Amino acid sequence: MVKAVVGANWGDEGKGKITDMLAESADIIVRFQGGANAGHTIVNDYGKFALHTLPSGVFYGHTTSIIGNGVALNIPILFNEIKSIVDKGVPAPKILVSDRAQIVMPYHILLDQYEEERLGGKSFGSTKSGIAPFYSDKYAKIGFQVSELFDEDILAEKVERVVEMKNILFEHMYHKPKMDPKEILNTLHEYRDMVAPYVCDVSLFLNQALKENKTVLLEGQLGTLKDPDHGIYPMVTSSSTLAAYGAIGAGIPPYEIKQVVTVCKAYSSAVGAGAFVSEIFGEEADELRRRGGDGGEYGATTGRPRRMGWFDCVASKYGCRLQGTTDVAFTVLDVLGYLDEIPVCVGYDIDGEVTTEFPVTRLLEKAKPVIKVLPGWKCDIRGIKNYEELPANCKNYVEFIEEQIGYPITMVSNGPGRHDIIHRESKLK
Ligand code: GDP
Repeated sequence: MVKAVVGANWGDEGKGKITDMLAESADIIVRFQGGANAGHTIVNDYGKFALHTLPSGVFYGHTTSIIGNGVALNIPILFNEIKSIVDKGVPAPKILVSDRAQIVMPYHILLDQYEEERLGGKSFGSTKSGIAPFYSDKYAKIGFQVSELFDEDILAEKVERVVEMKNILFEHMYHKPKMDPKEILNTLHEYRDMVAPYVCDVSLFLNQALKENKTVLLEGQLGTLKDPDHGIYPMVTSSSTLAAYGAIGAGIPPYEIKQVVTVCKAYSSAVGAGAFVSEIFGEEADELRRRGGDGGEYGATTGRPRRMGWFDCVASKYGCRLQGTTDVAFTVLDVLGYLDEIPVCVGYDIDGEVTTEFPVTRLLEKAKPVIKVLPGWKCDIRGIKNYEELPANCKNYVEFIEEQIGYPITMVSNGPGRHDIIHRESKLK
């Protein structure tokens, strides 16, 4: 049985916490896309962790954590992350890395930095982790697969060829020092030694696991609106953030994905540039940012303050649809307990016409939010385990949003901890 845990919006919806929770009864957790450019924050008995590459299940003794072929694998970051959790007393996790995963090269990170410098104010707000140059090279067929680290002849020839090409860009486009292919080759030898114990034919491993009826979680990074096809192009990430891509990025048949848990946060936040229709500013935004998440809405990788907004029913309905949602996990609801009234974006006004269907970027730029204000519940809902015990206005908020987005909210998260979760029957299921 395969379940995907994915985001409906711009990322940072709380997928890490939901995956960590579902991992309790799973056997295998797979990262299938993205790289170390976003992070999950997880709070558990060992402490608070920001993971960028490792799947959120690494804290359990019973799970296998997998880096699938679709991931942009930054080998030193992976190894520092393993070290950092082991140093904090977490038992050494069982980790497998796909032999078909490709490697983030040192020049990908440099190219990301140089390109952001060149673009200046017009930059895409990249985290400079090398993700866009990595995926460009993957599809231009000059990327390095993990498997290639183990063939010295192929490796040396390819490094020579690719570095020659990159040096033309370094020298003439960015006016930066050229790279020495020997140094790159040495770095790859170090990478090979670091990754060697973990390399595996992941799709074969998963094929076998599914025959044995194991439970597999596919853990998405970011959310629908950052998908390169269906998101707010070009302010997107460079690999698909959709559950459907989980099949490709892990190497399993698409029909094996039986449950798609789409995570929606009870308000909105976004990082990087791009249209954000329900965005709020000033003191109103500062207060929500300060109170948001667990210790404020600041990037897990960059520490950057996130852009804040009210819940966006238009974006979330679309986000859930593209994911193929079977269940919505509605998170961080407890944070809204301070508000007398809670605005919700229920439509977009584009050139005087109101729509509830999420438009293409060109039209999105013109959209103005249509706001409906719901009454707040003015109390702390943390610790509540039973949906019926939530305050009436809180249930009303959940049910209003469920009706607007049209997908069943079966889980409500009311705190950062693994067990801060309320299961709920939905009329839509
Ligand atoms: P992800 O990338 O989607 O996993 O999102 P983040 O790592 O940004 O997670 C959002 C933040 O919210 C983290 O600090 C979580 O610990 C925290 N969080 C998750 N669910 C809840 C919740 O229901 N309530 C509160 N207060 N915090 C939560």
